[in-house]
Amino acid sequence: MKKQILIVEDNELNRAMLSEILSDEYQVLEAETGQEALDVLHCHSRRIALILLDVVMPVMDGYTFLNIIKDDEELSLIPVIVMTQSGSEADEVAALAHGATDFVPKPYRPQVILHRVASLIKLRENAAMVNQIKFDRLTGLYNKEFFYKKVREKLDSDPEGEYSITFSNIENFKLYNDIFGVESGDKLLREIAVVMQKLVGEDGICCRYGADRFLYLDKLENERAARQKYFNKSFSDFFEGAENISFKWGTYEITDRSVPVEQMCDRAMLAVNSIKGQYDQSFALYDDSLREKLLREKTITSSMENSLAEGHFIVYYQPKYNINNNCMAGAEALVRWIHPKWGFMSPGEFIPLFEKNGFITQLDQYVWEQVCIHIHEWLEKGYPIMPVSVNVSRADVYKGNLVDTLLKLTKKYDIDPSYLHLEITESAYSETTGPIITTVEELRRLNFIVEMDDFGSGYSSLNMLSQIKLDVLKLDMQFIRNETAKPENQSILNDVISMAHRISLSVVAEGVEFRDQVDRLLSVGCDYIQGYYFAKPMPVTEYEGLLKNCLAQTDNSSSDISLSRNNKYSLLIVDEDAEYREKVRKAFESQYQIIEASNLESAISCIRSCKSVLTVILSMTLPDNDAASLIKTLRQNPAFWNIPVLASIPEGNCAAKLPMAMETDDFICKCHPLPDIKRRIQRLMEKAASNK
Ligand code: C2E
Ligand code: CA
Ligand code: CA
Repeated sequence: MKKQILIVEDNELNRAMLSEILSDEYQVLEAETGQEALDVLHCHSRRIALILLDVVMPVMDGYTFLNIIKDDEELSLIPVIVMTQSGSEADEVAALAHGATDFVPKPYRPQVILHRVASLIKLRENAAMVNQIKFDRLTGLYNKEFFYKKVREKLDSDPEGEYSITFSNIENFKLYNDIFGVESGDKLLREIAVVMQKLVGEDGICCRYGADRFLYLDKLENERAARQKYFNKSFSDFFEGAENISFKWGTYEITDRSVPVEQMCDRAMLAVNSIKGQYDQSFALYDDSLREKLLREKTITSSMENSLAEGHFIVYYQPKYNINNNCMAGAEALVRWIHPKWGFMSPGEFIPLFEKNGFITQLDQYVWEQVCIHIHEWLEKGYPIMPVSVNVSRADVYKGNLVDTLLKLTKKYDIDPSYLHLEITESAYSETTGPIITTVEELRRLNFIVEMDDFGSGYSSLNMLSQIKLDVLKLDMQFIRNETAKPENQSILNDVISMAHRISLSVVAEGVEFRDQVDRLLSVGCDYIQGYYFAKPMPVTEYEGLLKNCLAQTDNSSSDISLSRNNKYSLLIVDEDAEYREKVRKAFESQYQIIEASNLESAISCIRSCKSVLTVILSMTLPDNDAASLIKTLRQNPAFWNIPVLASIPEGNCAAKLPMAMETDDFICKCHPLPDIKRRIQRLMEKAASNK
């Protein structure tokens, strides 16, 4: 298709001549007056490649016409050749001053005209190409480089004006594309561009930063008003059908104009990134603390690996106490970063960052190893053995080799897995499918004790506790604070602890600071306490001092049965009477892990596979003389010598079975009241524990 050229000339003859020269190569449009030319332009502006203009015309002269089109953003891009009287330098200068691109003197010389026209059209097309990359093809907004330039110009031209830069993006835009298709996605982006331009009005500048991200400069007061009006509304207020999409905005109110525009935009981006993934927040304002936080995070990240290698991460121990006798019953290992330059750093600052950047798995493994080394030393020194809880991050669980890593460590340092309690924060259990269930099962099978940390801090679901078998429930510090501050009849503390006991979990309360909290926890049956009331986290040497004290105070054999998980203590009921087994199970299941067998064979297999402290309650009336056989088996095998057996005899059959019962550790009549059986079992269990 031929390019169009517009000739604006009142003289008909001249028009005809020019038309004659050009029409071989171009499609020529003619206008007799300036006004007529403007009309033509308004209809065809996009297709007109060049204007040939006579300056001397009645009504509207050429210069006036030039002024009008140079004021119009779109028309001003069309090159204009002015036709001047031959040799009139004044005309030529005036033409150029009014924005003409070039001039040709009259009378016309066809070759000169054709040449100038062709080269100007080419020049303009090249410029248009350059221009096109200033704009985003999809939305027509500026691209970011051009945006930076425009913003700089705007700020320079209005030194007193107050402005802000806002960065916005769509969360889950990819999802939108996936669900509705790319075309709908594009349409949405175009609509956003329109809304955004309307929002900022004449004074603002908008840009598509890339993908679903936009930037705009706006007058501060205008932006603040918009913030009030829109930013806490959902995205669907703007666009129909976009309910699943959330739009986030971050604004930098320009306070420091010396900062390069790119950095201003970075600040707005920093603000918006600070609320990423937070469903209840759609707007954030930049302040310097955000930048400082980022800088600090960068410094931390750059020195973490070195610090680990140089041993600047130190394990502290915070003791846990048995609430019933105030005896120390273990500790939690808590990491500290003692940096040569920055000094002591709290895990509250660096752990969340390490969880984000993945370094946590390395650090955790280091902490676990340190703890194993310490426990090994304590064993060698003959200190009382108390379990140590270590923290296990969500990332550790989902990495996949947690079980292996822990098992290798306990083997390397020759310690029983039950000395390691694993505190997994409750949020990690929020998915009760997949890795967490299998990992926890495997860990418990290997005799590690698994705790749910931070219970009550937010993700709590009682349902979850029934789906996944654990050993210890650790109540969150804030939960304890809130609940102990309420009147007893309004607190759910009692219910939570009863429920935990019902499913064989022991309960640790964390962050206990005051005597009245201890009293309250005691009254509702809590088992252990960790908190400043008893002791703060301390270096290992100090903790060793406490262990030594324990050694001096108690003789090591009097073990605290409730010290570990309840089902570290198992009760095997060997009885032919299912009803009786059920009765005993009910009486003891909150205290011990209950195993049942109804004959010799299954009893032996249970005993062989049982890893925990075991007491057997054995019916003397098992068919086939199985009771006698079992007693014999136990007494003959050194591995089983120390397993206590409580013989049970049915009512009215006492005398006959007494001789056999005499070979066991104790006996009862099945008609005995439960408290009596409980006392006996407790005593035997203690005996079993001390023999183990
Ligand atoms: P957490 O596991 O809930 O640990 C308990 C935190 O409560 C510890 O803070 C402890 O010092 C503090 N605390 C204990 N009793 C009291 C009390 O009575 N009052 C007050 N105000 N605070 C008390 P810490 O040591 O600053 O640790 C903070 C968090 O950092 C821990 O919370 C844990 O989530 C994480 N963390 C610490 N060490 C490690 C680690 O080795 N690995 C992992 N993954 N996380 C760790
Ligand atoms: Ca913990
Ligand atoms: Ca906790």
